[in-house]
Amino acid sequence: MNIKFGIIGAGMIGSDHATRINKSLNGGIVTAVNDINIESAKRLVAELGTAEVFEDPYDLIRSPEVNAILVCSIGSTHEEFVLASIAAGKYVFCEKPLATSASACKNIVDAEMNFGKRLVQVGFMRRYDSGYQKLKKVIENSEIGDVLMIHCAHRNPTVPESYVTEMAVSDSLVHEIDVIRWLLKEDYVTAQMIFAKKTKRSHGNLHDPQILLLETRSGIRIDVEMFVNCQYGYDIQCELVGSDGIAKLPEPESLVIRKDEKKFTSIDTDWKKRFIKAYDIELQEFIDGIVGNKIQGPSSWDGYVAAIACDICIKAQKTKAIEPFSIVETPKFYR
Ligand code: NAP
Repeated sequence: MNIKFGIIGAGMIGSDHATRINKSLNGGIVTAVNDINIESAKRLVAELGTAEVFEDPYDLIRSPEVNAILVCSIGSTHEEFVLASIAAGKYVFCEKPLATSASACKNIVDAEMNFGKRLVQVGFMRRYDSGYQKLKKVIENSEIGDVLMIHCAHRNPTVPESYVTEMAVSDSLVHEIDVIRWLLKEDYVTAQMIFAKKTKRSHGNLHDPQILLLETRSGIRIDVEMFVNCQYGYDIQCELVGSDGIAKLPEPESLVIRKDEKKFTSIDTDWKKRFIKAYDIELQEFIDGIVGNKIQGPSSWDGYVAAIACDICIKAQKTKAIEPFSIVETPKFYR
């Protein structure tokens, strides 16, 4: 039996996920689409050929034709749709961010715990990337001894004028914040944001590049260079420095070209291509979790902790100080 999915938000990632469910993955079919822009919903429904348009997102959530929901609308709408899905007792995959404030994420955590069972998976897809999975094995098998430092870079070719300084944290660095916490199984204790010399390619409301410095409970230091107008490509780097060795995130597969007295490989500019397999695996795991009545992917607690970290990093952008985290113990429900 196919799990019947309702999608809220028929924009870029909602359309991609819908196509993925219908064409690439096993065990799911999209039966319902809602978007505040009805024309977007109609366009996606026409492309899919398996779904109907719902003008009201709450009707979609409650519909007997929908077993599970994908929330792919803009971040500020996530809280209400995830809470409504929990109230309907349905599994819900929510694209990052889980919600746009830590308190809104906490509302979701509380609702889910009151319901008594995990229903929410958050779209932190880097955890499903084969390179990050290999790094995790290296750590778990102590192959490089104790991890002491992690050096990361998150570079995009360009961003639009609408991308402002805070979005470097909430839209982009949130991926490093989540994936490194997942790699290390450790929470953060401090954060600091440093502004480098501003690139001439940036605009007035964006300071680019920035460097995030994080410290974990056991004293591991993480630095992340965030450079969203680097021009040359979409480039994600992560290097673990251990007491006994170094482990580096593998480069995406790329041909080596020898030509004109040069040897080179190309670098993609499209972030979607870089993590395309990870998106497939994360959603397949969600479908399989629904079938097995137990989901295991990134939880609403992970979304909540990431939101707390983002708030602190954004504060650190303003204060330029080392900002402490208040310790929040993971409830047994999410361990
Ligand atoms: P997008 O292309 O703008 O799509 C969002 C869609 O939601 C738009 O069609 C928008 O309609 C619609 N919408 C806005 N308010 C709504 C409401 N109240 N009810 C129903 N639909 C509503 O954005 P996107 O790039 O797909 O991003 C969507 C979400 O996915 C964001 O939270 C983003 O952070 C996340 N995302 C995650 C990743 C990842 O790597 N995991 C990558 C990309 C995006 P209008 O255009 O008419 O406003």
